[in-house]
Amino acid sequence: MNAPAPNMKKGNLFILSAPSGAGKSTLCKAVLKQYNDILYSISHTTRKPRQDEQDGVDYYFITEDDFLEKINHGKCAEWAEVHGNYYGTSADFIDKQKASGCDILLDIDVQGARQILERYPDSITIFIMPPSLDALKQRMQSRGMDSEDVIGGRMANAEKEMTQRNQYRHVIVNDTLADAVTEILAVIGKYRK
Ligand code: 5GP
Repeated sequence: MNAPAPNMKKGNLFILSAPSGAGKSTLCKAVLKQYNDILYSISHTTRKPRQDEQDGVDYYFITEDDFLEKINHGKCAEWAEVHGNYYGTSADFIDKQKASGCDILLDIDVQGARQILERYPDSITIFIMPPSLDALKQRMQSRGMDSEDVIGGRMANAEKEMTQRNQYRHVIVNDTLADAVTEILAVIGKYRK
């Protein structure tokens, strides 16, 4: 029997959201490096992999049909359409790992964060803010990955997401990366047993 003892402490869910370009991936990596027993929730997405991304590591890259089937069978703890693609979190993964006492880090958007909070109200939500909208635009442009049109869409989405930061328990402004890393490690460290 693998069922956890009834009094065993359940794992924490740490939800990280940020507008695209605010430095969330870097902060995620820093958290997982420092706390190497926190599990990363690998999302399913219908987006095509980018050059440096690996299936089963960064995401599970699946077809739209497979994604819709997952939703229809209640396999997602949350899901959302972001920038024209579907993204979702595996309910099985979260339920099993949380029940066994593991802490989990989710990198999901504000729509997903809201759904996870409804399902797991004790989740710890963290929003990463860019220092300003101008700085965000400059970061997107300097990455050289997207056209001006795509950047325009991402900026509009970023503004919308940033208006919802007050729904998060913690807000960290990523002005200087080193300071933001120190801050997020301190926030997460506070909740760990
Ligand atoms: P990207 O395509 O740049 O990796 O991610 C785009 C956005 O989708 C980011 O804001 C990221 O946090 C969000 N995202 C990634 N996985 C999930 C997920 O499983 N659910 C939701 N709701 N958003 C996700």
